[in-house]
Order: sequence, then structure tokens, then C-alpha cells
Amino acid sequence: RKYVLTFEEANPDDVKLLGGKATSLVLMTRLGLPVPPGFTITTVACKEYYKSGEKLPEGLMDEVIEGVRYLESKTGRKFGGGDTPLLVSVRSGAAVSMPGMMDTVLNVGLNDKTLQGFIKFIGSEHAAYDAYRRFLAMFGRIVLGIPEEEFNKPLDEIKRKYGVKEDPEIPLQGLKELVDLYKQVYIRRVGKVIDDPWEQLRLSIDAVFKSWNSPRAKFYREANKITPDIADCTAASVVTMVFGNADWRSATGVVFSRNPATGEDELYGEYLPYAQGEDVVAGIRTPKPISELKKEMPEVYQQLYEGVKKIERYKKAVQDVEFTIEKGKLWFLQTRNAKMNPLAMIKVTVDMVKQNWMTKEEAIMTIKPQHILQVLYPRIDEAKAPKPIVKGIAASPGAVSGQAVFDPDTAVEWAKAGKRVILVREETKPDDVHGFYASVGILTSRGGATSHAAVVARAIGRPAVVGAEGLKIDYSTRTAKAGDVVIKEGDWLTIDGFTGNVYVGQVSTIEPKLPPEFYELLDMADSVSVFGVKANADTPEDATIARRFGAKGIGLLRTERMFRAPGRLELFRSVILSTNANERRDALNKLAELMRRDFEEIFEIMEGYPVTVRLFDPPLHEFLPNVEELVAEVTRARTLGRPDPEKEALLARVRALMEANPMMGHRGVRLGITFPDIYMAQVKAILEAALELKKRGKNVQVQIMIPQVSEYKELEYVINNVVKPTAEEVFKNYGDRIDFKIGTMMETVRASLTADKIASVVDFMSFGTNDLTQAVFSFSRDDVENKFMSQYLNLGILPYDPFVTIDRDGVAKLMKIAVDLARSVKPNIEIGICGEHGGDADSIRILAEVVGRGLDYFSASPYRVPVARLVTAQESL
Ligand code: ADP
Ligand code: MG
Ligand code: MG
Repeated sequence: RKYVLTFEEANPDDVKLLGGKATSLVLMTRLGLPVPPGFTITTVACKEYYKSGEKLPEGLMDEVIEGVRYLESKTGRKFGGGDTPLLVSVRSGAAVSMPGMMDTVLNVGLNDKTLQGFIKFIGSEHAAYDAYRRFLAMFGRIVLGIPEEEFNKPLDEIKRKYGVKEDPEIPLQGLKELVDLYKQVYIRRVGKVIDDPWEQLRLSIDAVFKSWNSPRAKFYREANKITPDIADCTAASVVTMVFGNADWRSATGVVFSRNPATGEDELYGEYLPYAQGEDVVAGIRTPKPISELKKEMPEVYQQLYEGVKKIERYKKAVQDVEFTIEKGKLWFLQTRNAKMNPLAMIKVTVDMVKQNWMTKEEAIMTIKPQHILQVLYPRIDEAKAPKPIVKGIAASPGAVSGQAVFDPDTAVEWAKAGKRVILVREETKPDDVHGFYASVGILTSRGGATSHAAVVARAIGRPAVVGAEGLKIDYSTRTAKAGDVVIKEGDWLTIDGFTGNVYVGQVSTIEPKLPPEFYELLDMADSVSVFGVKANADTPEDATIARRFGAKGIGLLRTERMFRAPGRLELFRSVILSTNANERRDALNKLAELMRRDFEEIFEIMEGYPVTVRLFDPPLHEFLPNVEELVAEVTRARTLGRPDPEKEALLARVRALMEANPMMGHRGVRLGITFPDIYMAQVKAILEAALELKKRGKNVQVQIMIPQVSEYKELEYVINNVVKPTAEEVFKNYGDRIDFKIGTMMETVRASLTADKIASVVDFMSFGTNDLTQAVFSFSRDDVENKFMSQYLNLGILPYDPFVTIDRDGVAKLMKIAVDLARSVKPNIEIGICGEHGGDADSIRILAEVVGRGLDYFSASPYRVPVARLVTAQESL
């Protein structure tokens, strides 16, 4: 035989050959569950069918006849036979489930003659006629392509005539009339009733194959990216019919082996007495909850329970099972892995480990990063959502409602007054960050998935929709327009960072409640992982979240914010701008005092774990007053004949600090060398904080990280002339010492290529992959998104955005070179990665492959820590 395999002989793992539905029948047969005898015409036949211009392959029907003979021998019935006729279903089914997209024909083999035998077999004329009218309608619709209304109209007429509401109430006489009406439809439409059972069977197989290419099936495959390497045709299974419509002790139903919404270990599903096949899903009658079955047919329920549990245990996945009860006897008709709510999925997986059904390792591999991400954020209650007014890019997950504000200062002010605000901007800048913290969500009309707004929102765990181009923002009137809808300051908005949808008003959201299993799963992940996971955290709030999500320390604490906070910016400006040395020192001392308190707070939260503090990194001009405004003021003063020498000096100083390429300019370690006061103040604040906590008996592990290094002598200079002398001074004043590590951020190409030299002067290094990507590509990370990235992606010039997922062939390769160089001189040097890529599942996989165990840890933004824990564990197995 070339095309046909019986359920008893086929291999349940041959999903591509048999399709999912058939393999499920084969598996259940093997497990000894009651499955009606059947056989499958494999996808090989379907592929040949299409190759030969939609003709059933030569010799196929001979094999089908042989298969039917086998069914006859198993059941003792006869296909087309008068006394005990065998009826079959012909069922579609491809390698991946395409629910409702292809066709199935039930009750094949019925005609006026076999009907008589069938009446005797089923023991009820009413049930037999019910099956017959179903067959005529289904076969007519699916195989002959007769419009559905042609069958629905007579059905409604008959129901009206006999005054009944539901199908099973139609009296026998009505069913007989319906059969006659249906036959007339056939005559009218195709000239005859197809009553040869073999012709019915052949045409049904043909129709099932054809349904593979129905418009809806094609659309579904496209939409779900089901390519030929995943599923290339459907199989057709011929299955002995069993009848859920034989009497009132018969039923058809669907059951889940556990609750797919909560993961609770209980059967969950519905059934419908005196019904067949699709009736449950079709919603023509209201089904009963499966718990009723326990009362009505306890033995059947028990058998169903044991059966689904057996499959579930074998597949190690919650099952979605179709069953039918015929006169009190249970039959299994299909099983597949259930689609589950991600939280339920996590709970079930952990439960299965506890039940010893699967190993820890299997559990870790079962959960996908998306499951983890999806459970962390509130979601829109789709049932209650109105139509969105505009759609942008889903940039940071979560759904929130808040009042619209159009500038960061207002956001802060309103938040202080206890309001929940959504910051609405065309785009955002680093200066707006205080507004981010004050807002519950961010909405922009420009920019892409890695725009500033998107990156920051993800980092601090605020839902964000960016690049909502349909939104026209007018800062002067403090309004935004989407079509005819005008949003004024203070109006309520809801944004959905899962879909990019934006709604007017407060749409209900559902808060996630993380079950203990969520944390248990991640603990399992840690126990097998060879990599550590830390967090990028700048504030006590970030650190608290990071700790709750299981970060083993802070891998990147950016200190810029400590200079930008209200009240401090002025101090810092006087440090940069003042020419008076005393004034500068005073300002710096005050700043150091404030920073020391920040560090104390964060060190305390992270007690017991290392905290890596990055010294001041950005170009100074980011902290200066706006030049254009200054110019305007100076000019105005002059035209009024009252020049302001102070302002003019300030302007001159600002101009002196300005650079053509600030991101490649006077920043990071270069500032540390030329303006050592700033680094000194920071080191002082860090170490004093650490000593203060030490005094209180706390265990603090401080790591000081120096950014933007490209030459090891820069490091050597800063370490010997700035960091160490400052430390010694602090220790002397304090009368106590503390160990701390000194390291560097690897974010320039030259540092990477000279990593051996760099390693020789530091205790640790951490790849700043955002800047490193910028440096390796020479792409400005602040501009690419709006300029050319989308075109590059559309044209296939780049396979993906390297600012989202690490570039395998360039950046990751350079990191590998650097790691090898560094370890060649200092085998045990600590090496990690911080930056957005550390929390991106694909990047972690790429780095685990390309760089491997040369990396000690990944540092991710707090909300990405759980994902990083899962994926690093998966990559460790
Ligand atoms: P789908 O993929 O649309 O679910 P199926 O092939 O599973 O299509 O069949 C449709 C319905 O008919 C299901 O409810 C199924 O349980 C039922 N069914 C299929 N074959 C039989 C059979 N041999 N006996 C009784 N019911 C059947
Ligand atoms: Mg089905
Ligand atoms: Mg950087």
C-alpha cells in the first residue's frame, strides 16, 4: 500500500505524513482507549492529488476499498450493506491544527436502502432519520457546494411547522419531510441524489483534499505563517461513525484535561445529549457543563477522566479532547494540545514537575519567553473594549489608562497631585525621563520599536505605544487629533502595549496575579543555568522590582538620573558652568551628599548581591540650558540696549561645550580624565554609602564601572589618579575600608579588539551592546529608526533590527573575539552584558551560541529579568 495506513499500524509520531488529527487517533488507539476503527489516507496522496491537477491518485481507491474491508472486519458491519450498514466520517487534518479551516463529512454511506438497516442497528427511526438529514445537508454543502441556506431554510420551515425550537424536538414525521425536501434540493441543484456509498466516499475524500486549498484555509496559513515545511497538505481519515444522536443516553462533547484558563487540575468542558459532531461548537443549543456528566453518567465520566489523564500524562501537555457517547458507551474522537492562557500554562507545567510527570528540564523547555512576558502586564479586557481610535507600534507591553498630558513637567506635577497620566508626545528625549517615571504609560506619534520612548518605557516597565502616526499632536493647544476625535489635556486614554491599540476613555484592564508557580518555575531555571541574570536598575523602585523578579544583583546602575533630578540639575549646572573653584567644590559636595543617600537606598535593597555602578557617561551639553533660548534672551537684551554680561558669558561657556558629534564626543572616561571632580564626587558617594551600610552590618558588594573606554591607558589613568586616591581618602576619613571591584563597559570597537590589554587592568568587563552596536555599524542609534531601518528590513538588507536583537555576524562575533582575548590573560575575569539585548530572548540565544560560557551573566531591564532567567536556563541545557 502506498497511501493508506490503519490506526493500528501507523506511527503516532508521523505528524507530517498523517496530520495531527490522525496521529492523535493513532496514539489513543495505542494507549488502549476506545477509538472507533479507522484508517488514514496520508498527505502523500494529497500532494499527488494537487500535482495531477486535483485528481485522486491512481490506485488510491483500491487501497481505500481494502481499508473499508478492514473496518468491516473490525466492526462486523458492511459498507453499503442493507442489514447492519457501516457509516464513516471522512476527516481532514494537517500537521498543524487549522481549526475549522478544512472540511469533514459525517455519516457517509447512508441512502434510502442502508437507512432501513441503520434504523434497526440504531434502534430508533427518529435517530436514523436525524443522521440521514444531517448527511444530506453536510454532503450537499461540502461536497457538492450547494449553498448552506438551501438546507437551513427547509430546516427552519419544518421547525416552524411543528412548532419546535431545537433540532432534537422535530418529530419523526418532520424529519422524513425534511429528508424529502433535501432530496428535492439535490435534484434541483445537481440533478440527482448521490446514493452510491462508494461514490459518496470517493467524492468526500476529494472534497477533503480540496479543502486544503479553500480560500479560508489559505488565508489562515498565510496569517499564521504555516509554510510548506511545517504542513504541506492534509490527510483524510476514514473513521467508523459513532452516534451521539442515537438516544438521550448519547451525547457529543469537548473536554480539556485541565482548566485552560486557570490551570486548575479539573476536567473542563461541555457536552450535548442527542447531538452529533459540530453541534457543541456551533452553538445551536446550549451545552451542559462536564460536571453534569459526573452526575448523569458517573461511569462514563470516570472513564473519560482516566482516558484524558492518560493522554495528558503521555503527551505531558494539557489536552483538548473530542468525544462521543453512543448509548452509554464512550468513544474518543480526537485529542490535541490545548491552547492555554500563559499563566495557566506555567502553573500546569510546574504542577506536572511536582507530580513527577516531567523533569525540571522538560518544564523549562516547555515554557516560551512569550508566556513569561505575557503574564507580567495588565491586559485589555477585550470583551469590554470599544473601537480603538488609532493604532501604533506595540512597544512595551501592558495596558493602562491615564489622563493625557503633553509635556513631562505637567506629567510630574499631575502625578504629584495623585493623578494617573499618560505622557503623549510626538517623540521623547532623554530630558523627558522624569515624565516617564511620573506617567503610567507613554504614547508617541513618531518613532519605532527601538525609539527612545520605546527603550525607556521597556526599561522602566511602562506600557508604551509609539509611532501612532494617525495621531496629530499640537503642543500649542495641548490637544491631539485622531480622525475626528480630539483629545484634550486631561482626557482619559487607554493604551495597549500588546497590540498598539489606543482607546479614548478608561477601558477595563485585567491585572495579572502571579501565582507561586511563576516563581517556582524561575527558581528551577536558575538551578540549571550556567549564566547569571542581573538587572539594569537606576532607582530604588527598579531595584525592588528586579529583586522581586529574581535578579542576582545590578549589572548596570546608570547614575545620570542622579544629576537630572529636580533640585540637582541646578547644582550640577553650576559645577559645569561656574568659573569659581570654591563654588564648584561646594556644589559637588552637596551633590555627593545627595547621591550617597541614593546609593545607600539601592545598596540596601540589593543587599547580598553585587551592584555595578557606572560612572557618569553622557556628554555634558545634555545638562546645559537650551542654546536657542539663551541666544534669544541675549539678543533681546542687546536690542533693548541693556546687554546682560552674565548671560553672555553663560552663552559663551555653553557654546564652548557644544560638539558636532556629542555621542562620540566629550563623555564617559574622557570626562573622567578632563573633569576628574565629577568622578571623584561619585566615587566618594558610592564608597561612603557602602561604608555606611557596612557599619550597619549589611553586606554590600560594590563594583565601579567606567564607560566609553577605547584605550587601556585611559582606564589605568582614571583608576590610578581618580578612583584609587579618592577611595583612600574616603577610607582614611572613615577609619574603615571596604573591598570593591573596578571594571569597564565594553562599548567601543577598539576596546573589544584590545580586550587583553583592558583585562589586564580591571576586575570585570560588561558589554554595553547598544553603543557597541552603534559603533560596529556606524549607525546612529537615535536616528536609524525614523530614517532607514524599516526600509532596510523590508528590502531584506538586514534580517532584523540589530538594536533589538544582537547582530550575530558582526557584534556578537566581535564580543567573542574580545572575550577570548580577555580570558587569554585573565581566565577568571568576570564578563557580562548589559544593554537592551540582555533581556531579549533571541539575543540571549545568539550570544549563548556565539560567545557561550565566556559570558558570566546577562543584565536586563527589571521586567525582562524573568525572561532572561528562563532563556539562559534553556540555553544551558
Ligand atoms: P474539525 O477539525 O472541524 O473538528 P473533525 O474531523 O474533528 O473536524 O469532525 C467534526 C466533528 O465531527 C467533530 O465534533 C468530531 O468529533 C465529529 N466526528 C468526526 N468523526 C466522527 C465519527 N466517526 N463519529 C462521530 N463523530 C465524529
Ligand atoms: Mg475536531
Ligand atoms: Mg553606552
